[in-house]
Amino acid sequence: MAETLGRLRTALGDRGDYDAAAQCSRCGYCEQACPTYVATGREAQSPRGRAQIVRLMLEGKLDDPAAAEEALSTCLLCGACQTVCYAKVPVPDLALEGRRMLRGKPHWLVRRASRLLIEDPRRLAAFLKIGYFFKRLGLSWLSAPLLRLAGLPVLASMDEHVREAPRRLLDDELPALRAAGEGDAWLYFAPCGPRSLFPRVGAATWRALTALRGPGRFLDNACCGLLAHNYGELEDARTLARRNIERAEAAGEAEAVGDCSSCVAFLKTYPQMFLGDADAAWRERAERFAARVKDVVEVYGSCAAGLPAAASAGTVSYHDSCRALNGQGLRDEPRRAARAAAGGTFVEMPDADVCCGGAGAFAFTHEELSDEILRRKAGGAVSIGARTVLTSSTSCLIQLARGFRKYYPDATVLHLSEYVARALDGRRGA
Ligand code: SF4
Ligand code: SF4
Repeated sequence: MAETLGRLRTALGDRGDYDAAAQCSRCGYCEQACPTYVATGREAQSPRGRAQIVRLMLEGKLDDPAAAEEALSTCLLCGACQTVCYAKVPVPDLALEGRRMLRGKPHWLVRRASRLLIEDPRRLAAFLKIGYFFKRLGLSWLSAPLLRLAGLPVLASMDEHVREAPRRLLDDELPALRAAGEGDAWLYFAPCGPRSLFPRVGAATWRALTALRGPGRFLDNACCGLLAHNYGELEDARTLARRNIERAEAAGEAEAVGDCSSCVAFLKTYPQMFLGDADAAWRERAERFAARVKDVVEVYGSCAAGLPAAASAGTVSYHDSCRALNGQGLRDEPRRAARAAAGGTFVEMPDADVCCGGAGAFAFTHEELSDEILRRKAGGAVSIGARTVLTSSTSCLIQLARGFRKYYPDATVLHLSEYVARALDGRRGA
């Protein structure tokens, strides 16, 4: 069994896993908010079912570990259930705890990536650049059958889903961005997505923050640790968290602003990893750090009144990242900014707040279920004739790009930063 957290932050205070699971009264109010329950109609794939499974595990009464594994591994960790639940039962955290109890050691590839992120992120970046080079040559398509034969179907699937293969990573762009001047107005926390897969997003965030708040600085952060946390390497996640807390403390008092809502939501939950009695000092530091963390969509929301409209080609809409909406309660902030930057072309799409089925590696590990959820999401964009859909997390960018290629090629997906920066760039160029 992998290490578990053992204690969770709940609406009733810090509780042991069992007490957190027992907060579920089994009312069923959350069922229709759960994308996997709506898609499958199966009680085991509902929030209530998952909370019950974890409770049975903790009582030592689980009689079908394989069924429990399926129920917990298919949870998107979207948190939609928690948003509607009157008791705020932390089902996503319970599902993760259940996975840790069932799974034992994580896959060697996750362990290797996790160690590289801690010990040698530059080497990891070099590997990525080599991989992107082969992808641009079209050679990675040849590797998919080999990866499947080697027992790594998730990597093969990732390669097919992700079209991005940037020539330069964000770290290569930073010298030019910094040359325009640095200051103390903000600290940029560069999540791994904008840093290593979508450098255009990180560069747009930097330009937009500079235009809206004045010059800031790069935090030179480590990975937030979400991958390690969600895939069973809690001590690695704590190591990364401590590193980021130390760097933020050394960098002054400014807000730490990140532009992947999944990572930012996780940064805000750092204290939960330090609930043990021996961790009180780090818990306090994690709480001070979490209070300084901001999702970039919060910044845009607070500046929306001053945003110019971007030159628009058709209807613009917004898809909620689950970790912005359910993880951080950010529903109005990104919409205020999207509406302002879209001028009169913004239209709300049906079910904008429903998960797209991306959910980190979920789209690669549960392709069929993910695709069913994605098809519904694309249908919402089709119904309003959207040409541009904005969002705020890396996983949504990957998943929506795939969904639009497959079901609605008329639409494209952009990070909100890209759209806001485009609007601000237009004003400067005017
Ligand atoms: S998770 Fe909340 S809403 Fe869902 S069944 Fe339990 S108590 Fe009811
Ligand atoms: S986190 Fe999402 S997928 Fe998981 S039980 Fe809750 S609503 Fe369903």
